[in-house]
Amino acid sequence: MADKLLAVKGMNDLLPADSHAWEWLEDLVRHLMRLHGYRNIRTPIVEPTALFVRGLGEVTDIVEKEMYTFVDHLNGEKLTLRPEATAGVVRAVVEHSMLYDGGKRLYYMGPMFRHERPQKGRYRQFHQIGAEVLGFGGPEVDAELILLAHRLWSNLGLQDVRLELNSLGQPAERAEHRSALIAYFEANINALDEDARRRLHSNPLRILDTKNPAMQSLVEGAPKLMDFLGEESRRHFEQVGEILRAQGVEYRVNPRLVRGMDYYNLTVFEFITDRLGSQGTVCGGGRYDYLIEQIGGKPAPAVGWALGIERVLELVRESGRWPQTPPPDAYAIVTDMKQWPVVMRVLTALREIGVSVQMHASGPQGMGSMKSQFKKADASGAAYALVFGQQEFEQGQVAVKSLRDGQGEQRLVPLAAVAHWASELKA
Ligand code: ATP
Ligand code: MG
Repeated sequence: MADKLLAVKGMNDLLPADSHAWEWLEDLVRHLMRLHGYRNIRTPIVEPTALFVRGLGEVTDIVEKEMYTFVDHLNGEKLTLRPEATAGVVRAVVEHSMLYDGGKRLYYMGPMFRHERPQKGRYRQFHQIGAEVLGFGGPEVDAELILLAHRLWSNLGLQDVRLELNSLGQPAERAEHRSALIAYFEANINALDEDARRRLHSNPLRILDTKNPAMQSLVEGAPKLMDFLGEESRRHFEQVGEILRAQGVEYRVNPRLVRGMDYYNLTVFEFITDRLGSQGTVCGGGRYDYLIEQIGGKPAPAVGWALGIERVLELVRESGRWPQTPPPDAYAIVTDMKQWPVVMRVLTALREIGVSVQMHASGPQGMGSMKSQFKKADASGAAYALVFGQQEFEQGQVAVKSLRDGQGEQRLVPLAAVAHWASELKA
């Protein structure tokens, strides 16, 4: 036998034991998005590398070391597997002039790729669901998005997800803060680690995001961006908070919350849990009022978030509410291959009424004994067996046998009048 080929490290197969929970989450999200007037967008998984370099910022973790970038050998183009979807959505919105008749509420679901060290909750192919609102600048949109995510947690039955909020202000305010920050870190240059020194002049804000315990107290005492916000930025932030508080949504203002991409301004937020160890951020987002312009569109404000499906579902699993695949309503037991043309017609009629039926399938020895078929029917979890026995079949009937209640009641029903009895089989 040839060597087994395995999946790429950090990229996982999703098997039926788990895929039902994914579909359950996706269905819930689709429903919620519809309730809020968000429409689905699907963009390519491969984008020009320049989109991410320009969109996310050159000195971000993602662009510096996490992107799967390759050259298209056929034409020499530099391409990247998308590490996130906001840049692609913005590109599509600009490319198709989608804002010409007003703002848009969009959502997406799909795989993202980052070359990280794989561990629980951190993969190289992972999956995000994201919501983006483009063309509206008001704080009520920030609040709507945060509330939408918040509703999702409660619909999923999750309780231990807390919200952290910050404002990154506007570019001019950030520039002022940046200078103050550089001055502060320069005055404490000996306390900086190598990473921080490298970022001191390129991206000092990211130093605040350090995970190095030795730098915590230094970072604690750094000038806070919040103190550099002007009147308007401050008001925007306060209005978001006011709306959230009026809905009973609790949050903590975290002045050190800066997020990993450069494109954010004003509101940024994260939903965090303590139940997933160090991979505790389940959802993050914020305003990105300058990204559309940066990607070549007419300037327009925007705000959005993205959640990690793997982390959210891990939290669902942890909460003990893992949804199981529902069994079929009925299992069809067939005694003779000759019955199939008619049986298949009956099964189709049942399915049209909404009864889910799994049919027995033949093996090397034909359909198999009645006993072995009943075993399969039981294992399928179906509530009923439809027994197409030879004699009944010839009389135009099928036996419906309950598999759940005790020894199983059995009654004969006419093959020709499926609609009369089918709905009784539905779970
Ligand atoms: P982290 O700080 O954990 O690396 P991030 O700030 O890089 O997260 P974002 O780029 O904001 O994450 O992506 C939004 C969400 O996508 C995260 O909150 C997380 O739930 C999920 N996510 C990000 N990277 C991964 C990954 N490598 N594997 C699984 N989920 C991920
Ligand atoms: Mg990351």
